[in-house]
Amino acid sequence: RHPSLRTNQLGLTVRDYEGAMSTLCAGCGHDSITAAIVRAFFELDTPPHMVAKLSGIGCSSKTPAYFLSGAHGFNSAHGRMAAIATGAAAANRKLAYIGVSGDGDSLSIGLGHMSHAIRRNVKMLYIIENNGVYGLTKGQFSASADVGSKSKRGEANAQAPIDPVMLALGLGATFVARSFSGDKAQLVPILKAGLLHDGFALIDVISPCVTFNDHEGSTKSYVHTRKNQVPIVQTDFVPLAAEITAEYPEGSVAKVTTHDGTTIHLRKMAADYDPTDRTRAMTMLRERQAAGEIPTGLLFLDSTGGTEMHRGAKTVSTPLVDVPFDELCPGRDAL
Ligand code: SF4
Repeated sequence: RHPSLRTNQLGLTVRDYEGAMSTLCAGCGHDSITAAIVRAFFELDTPPHMVAKLSGIGCSSKTPAYFLSGAHGFNSAHGRMAAIATGAAAANRKLAYIGVSGDGDSLSIGLGHMSHAIRRNVKMLYIIENNGVYGLTKGQFSASADVGSKSKRGEANAQAPIDPVMLALGLGATFVARSFSGDKAQLVPILKAGLLHDGFALIDVISPCVTFNDHEGSTKSYVHTRKNQVPIVQTDFVPLAAEITAEYPEGSVAKVTTHDGTTIHLRKMAADYDPTDRTRAMTMLRERQAAGEIPTGLLFLDSTGGTEMHRGAKTVSTPLVDVPFDELCPGRDAL
């Protein structure tokens, strides 16, 4: 049977989890993440009307339009997604909340809001589609840009980046993970785990911007100005800036060359890696980064949902269980 016709326990196909046609640049890493999100919800048998998708401003923040057209949604002001999600999650604890943001949206203007959502352990999946640039406004450096990255005009970034993973660990996040947009084998299960986590789940996803990322001063970028204009998910992922196709088992390092000639070394956490020690996770990240590697996988998990302070704000519902629509909106007949 064709994969697109396969149904989940709700009788839905993967196509039922799609949204609008993508208008991002052809090859943008974000579209691959969208495809993984679609796959994760499909495999979790999530009723689309039990999901609320939220975003701020940026190329990444257009993403929620491209999945789950049957879900609730709110596209907020720049950097305010976390604040809107906090309010929504407090008002309706039955929905599953997924926020999609970018490094520009989350690590500069939205840094305060994201920090307090972590501190409050808001029950949501918070995805940062991380490429180091403000793609929507033509490629200015964001707060996660690597030192030495070149802008379109050729100047190199001199400022040290903010690492959202280290930041989240320092703020007490109870679920911290990192992945790569071209690694669907890793990304889909991590997204599913984040959706099921009983607290704030941060997933930092390295997602190349094929139009403005130019670490090597290459002229290969800047050519992708046409739009995708394809359904975001057929049965597989859309063409990528870089994709991991070879076998990439746990504990190994994948050498990935992206569209601009940059080679990155992604270290997938070993099967026996214990993610329950926050201090050890931070030490491991520093050591691996000093060795020129980017650790990926589930980096930290507090399966108890966090400290007592965090538990105070934690919800207790099971959001991925179907609830009749009337129960979602009590009193709606009076409106
Ligand atoms: Fe993606 Fe960059 Fe194009 Fe934005 S500008 S859609 S981040 S490739």
